[in-house]
Amino acid sequence: MSFRRLFRIDLRRLIISLAVISSLIALVNTFHASYRVQREQLISNTLEANRVYAAKLSESTDNFLKAAQQQLAFSASVLSENLGNEQQLLSEARRLQQQTDSFNSVVIVNAQGRVLTTSPTTLQLQGEYLNSPGAREALNSKKPTISQVYISTAGNLVVNISQPILSGDGKYLGYVSGSIYLKERSILHTLLGEHYYRDGSYLYVVDRNGRLLYHTDPSRVGTIVQENSAISAVMLGKSGAERVLNSKGVDMLAGYAPLPRSGWAVIAQRPTAATLAPLDGLMLDVLRHTVPLAALSLLGIWWLARLISKPLWQLASNAEHFDSNIAAEKILQVQSWYFEATQLKRAMLSGLTLVQERIGKLNLASLTDPMTGLYNRRGLETTLDRWKEKNRSFSIIALDIDRFKKVNDTYGHDAGDRVIMNIASMMKKCSRSADILCRSGGEEFLMLLPDTEIANAGEVAERLRLQTAQCETSGVGYVTISLGIASWPESSPDMGQALKLADTALYAAKEQGRNRVVAYSPDSSSGAAVQSKTSSAAVLPPKD
Ligand code: GH3
Ligand code: MG
Ligand code: MG
Repeated sequence: MSFRRLFRIDLRRLIISLAVISSLIALVNTFHASYRVQREQLISNTLEANRVYAAKLSESTDNFLKAAQQQLAFSASVLSENLGNEQQLLSEARRLQQQTDSFNSVVIVNAQGRVLTTSPTTLQLQGEYLNSPGAREALNSKKPTISQVYISTAGNLVVNISQPILSGDGKYLGYVSGSIYLKERSILHTLLGEHYYRDGSYLYVVDRNGRLLYHTDPSRVGTIVQENSAISAVMLGKSGAERVLNSKGVDMLAGYAPLPRSGWAVIAQRPTAATLAPLDGLMLDVLRHTVPLAALSLLGIWWLARLISKPLWQLASNAEHFDSNIAAEKILQVQSWYFEATQLKRAMLSGLTLVQERIGKLNLASLTDPMTGLYNRRGLETTLDRWKEKNRSFSIIALDIDRFKKVNDTYGHDAGDRVIMNIASMMKKCSRSADILCRSGGEEFLMLLPDTEIANAGEVAERLRLQTAQCETSGVGYVTISLGIASWPESSPDMGQALKLADTALYAAKEQGRNRVVAYSPDSSSGAAVQSKTSSAAVLPPKD
């Protein structure tokens, strides 16, 4: 099989290729779109979750700071009357430190910055002058403060919350402050640390300088976070969410929220890679759900392509065999179930009918003699071929007009033609419809009588001879004919030979005086093997 034939482009292949290509494009497109949508969805969901989480935690941390300041404010008002009472100072400091989890330690300092009392007393700061940034800020500002992160006089990394102690007439008497130890278990751990991070998420809190107050990794507390766009934004008091690179260069989805009271900020973040980890599984799921349906629709497309192309394919392959006898039958069998195929089928059928009609007419014209309407030699041969095929026996009458040359010479060629036509019409009258009548030459004729014995053919010949002799042709008068008879396969098994034998009998009839019928007889002793069957009637001479 040649390459071109093997890869022949036909309608079915075209439809299938087109459908497969477009389905694949659609599938890839759907897959890609779904991948992108899910990816965006996962990212935006995580950003939003982190934003909400950061906002929630900043709110609760801010609330804690407010409550802590209120606690200190209450104590400051209590202490303003009792600053000289050491016992009272100690019990108030102890109450502040122990009643709630708010502070890791509490100090009460006078207007000169000397520590009046501490809780716990193990700090051993009593009587000392504090010089830490938190202490200085509290003393200098004479206002409620929330300090930056610093290392305290006792050596702890702390944040200090202070409240001034004012006398009844508004005179500054000192301050009471609570410290939160960032490296130890503190209220911040209670507020922020009680969460379970199973997905790589984590949380941190920075002060207004970007220094870590709280981090899931405690070793980082106290360090400054640099070059983080989320922190830059939150420092400006904005809350929101964005994709950032963390200090280690890891791609993160961060939500952030400021704490207005302290200038701190809470940042909740999750690695982008961890967020997108389920995507592979999701896409596999999408694929698992898409592929069976895609395969099913491809199967459907293949089936439909077959159905659509089948009638056209059948019509096209029949067009190749337009000349075959069964072309029409085959075209009729094509099931054209849609408009175009039906129209094509109809057009092909009517074209075929037209062609066959034309061919039929041409055939008929080529097989008949135009003057008499009898078969010509070719028509005769077609019949002989058919009968030979069917092994159909028949008798042959060969006839020739007597002295026809003279008719022509005397009355002219047209008169001669009229005689020929007269003879032809008489042959028609004397024969059955199944008989084949042929003008085999100028004024020579043949009659083939199927399934007829030689004796019966003799009777037909005699009847024709008599009728001819009695029939006047206008302008000519009477003519006679001589007839020779043979039969197949009786006279000779060779069909051509049988025809020649009829001619031989005709020749014998001429020899014997014309206007007579002679039948071939195999047991005749004469050279021509012909026996006279009928005595001649009087030959009427042509009119002068
Ligand atoms: P015979 O009795 O021996 O048959 O004598 P004949 O004159 O008929 O002899 P021959 O067969 O030699 O003559 C046939 C003539 O028929 C010769 C030719 O001019 C004439 N002829 C042949 N075809 C036609 C035709 O179509 N029309 C006319 N008018 N004459 C034809
Ligand atoms: Mg002749
Ligand atoms: Mg003749």
